[in-house]
Amino acid sequence: MKTIYMDNNATTRVVPEVLEAMLPYLHDFYGNPSSAHSFGGEVAQKITEAREQVDHFLGADPEEIIFTSGGTESDNAAIQSALANHPEKRHIVTSRVEHPADRALCRRLLTQGYRISEIPVNAAGDLDMASYQENLTPDTAIASLMWANNETGVIFPVEEAATLAREKGIPFHTDAVQTAGKIPINLKSSGIQMLSLSGHKLHGPKGIGVLYVRKRTKFVPLIVGGHQERNRRAGTENTPGIIGLGKACELAANRAAEENARVRELRDRLELSILSGVPYTRVNGGEASRLPNTSNMSFEYVEGEAILLYLDEFGICASTGSACSSGSLEPSHVLLSMGIPPATAQGSVRFSLSVYNTREEIDTVIETLPGIINKLRGISPLWSAMRGARLAN
Ligand code: PLP
Repeated sequence: MKTIYMDNNATTRVVPEVLEAMLPYLHDFYGNPSSAHSFGGEVAQKITEAREQVDHFLGADPEEIIFTSGGTESDNAAIQSALANHPEKRHIVTSRVEHPADRALCRRLLTQGYRISEIPVNAAGDLDMASYQENLTPDTAIASLMWANNETGVIFPVEEAATLAREKGIPFHTDAVQTAGKIPINLKSSGIQMLSLSGHKLHGPKGIGVLYVRKRTKFVPLIVGGHQERNRRAGTENTPGIIGLGKACELAANRAAEENARVRELRDRLELSILSGVPYTRVNGGEASRLPNTSNMSFEYVEGEAILLYLDEFGICASTGSACSSGSLEPSHVLLSMGIPPATAQGSVRFSLSVYNTREEIDTVIETLPGIINKLRGISPLWSAMRGARLAN
């Protein structure tokens, strides 16, 4: 059975050009980039090139890029650095819909006496900007907001949020893990001070990421040890990962605009067909500005987990939300924050597309999904009760 992969917000396929760029650095060129000999020096040179590819993609300068192990480390490093810079400031501004990479850290900081303001979102998933602005206080050590939501694809106005924070002298960090490669990023013209990125979300390898730190921002490293990354992230470099990420950024810089237009068309085709073919269905975040590849749909009277199991039988890979929160039976905190009732939130499925998806695959999902929902509703006591009540009326 052919796999139809529509879980690209969880992770993406490594593109052949990226793999090709990485392979020699797993085998032939295995030198340590910090070594004094030229065998290591060649590898260091290649890391410099990868850094330039990342700079170009983000509109940054080489010294503003720190290679990390991924989005989670970058988020942790950004927030912890801001706190270490200003130990007297005990307040953090974030949102209610952040990824666990940010949320779990904030929850821990709460137990350490920090005050955390989680800014609410409205029913569309848009950030309450008035509340955000009110919560930026002289005691705020950092404001950290995701650029685009991993579950719904809703985009926050982070450039505006960064400017507001900057006006009050507050460092601003954004988690752009889901944004990179899907909408343009240009840090030259923005007030964003720190930004997180992850290789495996943009057709690069896993276990590699970037923390962008704007020039003249004081940075306190999370991981200490050797002198790598200009003393800002210790540990021998993940050379193949860095080279792969550089290549993925180069490809995204050249191709993303054209690819995303095609992906958006496929996503819209999927949504429109499902909405018109399956009653009691909604698109979560559908009224907001969204990433082109993400569709989060709720199907009333069914369980998202059950839908996934049936989809899996057809080789269709989707998700009920963040891969990092799967296994939890709790409804999504993102959907609950949007005011979606828990039962509806439980019946949600996220399809996240990539340039590898074809129109045929979309049509297979369009043909398959309504049958699955009907089958599940057929065995749902709530569905029968609702139908009975409607007939009685
Ligand atoms: N932030 C967001 C918005 C994400 O979607 C993810 C991964 O799902 C992460 C952070 C974590 O990134 P990584 O898997 O590279 O640690």
